[in-house]
Amino acid sequence: MPLPSAANATPSMAQWFDLKHQEPDALLFFRMGDFYELFFGDAQAAAMALDIALTARGNHNGEPIPMCGVPVAAAPAYLSRLIRRGFRVAVAEQTQSPQKGQKGPLPRAIVRVVTPGTLTEDELLEAGRANLLMAIARSGSRRSSMIGAAWIDISTGAFETTSVPEAALPELMARLDAAEVLSDPELIPADHASRLAPVAVPPTIDSARTLIARAYGVAQLDALGDFPDEQAIACAMALNYVQRSQAGALPRLSRPIPQGVSGVLGIDPATRASLDILRTRDGETKYSLFGVVSRTATAAGSRLLSQWLSSPLTNAQQITDRQNAWLWLQSVPGLVGSLGDILKRTPDPARALGRLSAGRGQPRDLAAIRDTLIAADDLTGLLQPVCDAQTPTLIRTLTAGLYGRADTLLDRLKAAVAEDLPARIEDGGFIAAGFNSELDRYRTLRDESRRIVAALQGRLSEEYGIGNLKIRHHAQLGYVIEVPSAAGAKLKDRPELSFRQGTASLARFSTEELAALDRAILEAADKATTLERRLFAELCAHILQTPALDEVAEFLALTDVLRSCALLSEGGSWCRPDVTDGTDFELIACRHPVVEAALAESGSADARFIPNDCKLPPEHRAMLLTGPNMAGKSTFLRQTALAVIMAQAGLPVPAKSARIGVVDRLFSRVGGADDLARGRSTFMVEMTETAAILNQAGPKSLVVVDEIGRGTATLDGLSIAWATLEALHTQLGSRTIFATHFHELGALTEFLPRLAPYTMAVKEWRGEVIFQHEVRPGSARKSWGLHVAKLAGIPQSVVTRASRLLATFEREQAEARSSLPLFEAVAETPDPAIETPAPQSAALDALTTLNPDDLSPREALAALYDLKRLA
Ligand code: ADP
Repeated sequence: MPLPSAANATPSMAQWFDLKHQEPDALLFFRMGDFYELFFGDAQAAAMALDIALTARGNHNGEPIPMCGVPVAAAPAYLSRLIRRGFRVAVAEQTQSPQKGQKGPLPRAIVRVVTPGTLTEDELLEAGRANLLMAIARSGSRRSSMIGAAWIDISTGAFETTSVPEAALPELMARLDAAEVLSDPELIPADHASRLAPVAVPPTIDSARTLIARAYGVAQLDALGDFPDEQAIACAMALNYVQRSQAGALPRLSRPIPQGVSGVLGIDPATRASLDILRTRDGETKYSLFGVVSRTATAAGSRLLSQWLSSPLTNAQQITDRQNAWLWLQSVPGLVGSLGDILKRTPDPARALGRLSAGRGQPRDLAAIRDTLIAADDLTGLLQPVCDAQTPTLIRTLTAGLYGRADTLLDRLKAAVAEDLPARIEDGGFIAAGFNSELDRYRTLRDESRRIVAALQGRLSEEYGIGNLKIRHHAQLGYVIEVPSAAGAKLKDRPELSFRQGTASLARFSTEELAALDRAILEAADKATTLERRLFAELCAHILQTPALDEVAEFLALTDVLRSCALLSEGGSWCRPDVTDGTDFELIACRHPVVEAALAESGSADARFIPNDCKLPPEHRAMLLTGPNMAGKSTFLRQTALAVIMAQAGLPVPAKSARIGVVDRLFSRVGGADDLARGRSTFMVEMTETAAILNQAGPKSLVVVDEIGRGTATLDGLSIAWATLEALHTQLGSRTIFATHFHELGALTEFLPRLAPYTMAVKEWRGEVIFQHEVRPGSARKSWGLHVAKLAGIPQSVVTRASRLLATFEREQAEARSSLPLFEAVAETPDPAIETPAPQSAALDALTTLNPDDLSPREALAALYDLKRLA
């Protein structure tokens, strides 16, 4: 419903229109007493989304105003539902409490715009996941083709930025998986469109630089580092948006930290989607890689582990450092268990800091910081005594980084924060007794007066001879004497008592003495509250001015992740992979952790996961994998790709042993590539993805592909699969596993020297097919499609007819095979950049005498046959 004109609005509706115009794209939560009310189109949208009653309130230009409301106390739950459904919500509060005799509506202002990327409330956040706001911009100058990206997690204060070529943007966006994106819609991939924030006009470079400098209180942006234009613009967009969402106040953020993209394993969006790294396609964590490898005890640890898994490293030394650290933890008896005991009671300091800096801190956030520092001390208490010169560097850095970093703050918090904490600051009583003498005095005064009041009741009841005389606190009257109305009649003449109120059953009186006590109590309580708020603000400032806290929080998360790795490798069925700078690739008895976990859970007797080896040595770095559907090809391909991710993230891998030469880019095309929603045919998607591989893969990449060419006519498909495999094998030289149902491709293994044939073992037993899930050298001879057809209930007559046809086709194909254009591949000039197989004496000698440039295709072919005989 379009916004009606504001003309002729009542004063309070005029105020509503005014606020609504400030944030036209958000639902306006308009505070009225104990409710947030919504009007007009907002009310209709929210009532529908929240399934609450839509009513009407008054009239506007002769039409009733649609309205709905949510109680303030229950607002977080409603907010979270609205945010999850893609709404943004502007919260308008009353900025003054009602005054006596005031006319017109209370002043109100938008104090906050709640959007998916700017959440700080625990209720609205997922504990184990970073919640990112990402801004994307191009620099104004035509010369730069780089795209700037900046991302902020306001719940923890993290702020990072980078520049990438336009083609690499989808990959970066898939890696970060931001909750909200600020960008020109033209710049970003279509599947992120639903996360776009409504307005994102990039500032000019000059205003961007000024905005950032001002936000960090420096004269020039250069003081924070050297940022290219596109990064500065993206950072400014993100900062500006955060500032607006917090009604002008900027929460505590780190300075923008430039991130290289070079030290990170390249995983393009299609690969990420096919591997279910952090979540499965339906958004669940349980059957994702993260879900089965995480043994973390804290939310911060989960977030760090997610980050490790979504950005594996490419530097073998850094990977080995991580491995050494968790292996060491595991080697000290009892250490993993005791670390766990401490971590399990460690709060989430980063998010507590986020709330405190956003001005939404509560007493429990002070306790969280205190308990974090205590946990850090306890952890070092465990680690320090067992550390020596042999201890891995990462552990020593971490131990030094955790201990005694904020002792003054810790002492102060220990003294200041009370044992039992109220939920909200307003409830008071969160500062411990003995911390501040002035506060203690007000509290004594208040409590003393309360005691005097209590004593007074006994004295008066005796004095007036009324057994059931009570002194009660009354909202409007303050402390009053309450007696039954019959007794009240007796008291009416007493000069020291003034009659205040009478009902059918009781009468209320006040006295000078009571009124004085009431004032004293109120005054003392008031002073105590004000002082407590001031002390809270002081503690909060102390916390926010202690930069060591960020590091302590990071090291705690790191300890948690390393411990999680140690736990994972504890049972002995996960190994530490040997990660090298070469192009080795050998997984012995490797498993798919998720399929294995799912099988174990299913509890069926034959549900044992069959481990498989995967060896891609330089002389056979490409594997051709044939085998029928359901035999386990996709599982094998995925487990190989996942092993690389786990290994390069620094984690143990589910195998008996593993040696992996660092992979620079990982390509995985496994499982349905349907993308019909975007209006592209399956085949188009498949070809686009294949093109991406052929244009980007190199000698250090790993490519695992399933069924290339299945989306088109057989001969087309076969030819494309054939040429792709040749290119991967000969020109690109990537380590490759190529799964196919085209058995014809088996012929290629005779001509491509580094291609080794493997197949999924299948047994036929009493006319039934048994899939053994075992990868063996060799080629599939049969596709077993007819068996599967039979199992599925295709009538016997049709199956019989099909098998006759199959026999004919197979005969024809065998005859035709010799005429297929196989030989072009073999005759091709080898790429000098590609490693040749290990020396093989006679063959090598013959090879070195060959000069490929001088050979005709036919001569080259003959030469190759000769070589083959020698090998
Ligand atoms: P394909 O890709 O050949 O059609 P999948 O990899 O999808 O086959 O595997 C089919 C089913 O077989 C999987 O759902 C899984 O339960 C089971 N499976 C696959 N590999 C194994 C294995 N190594 N051990 C045990 N079961 C397996």
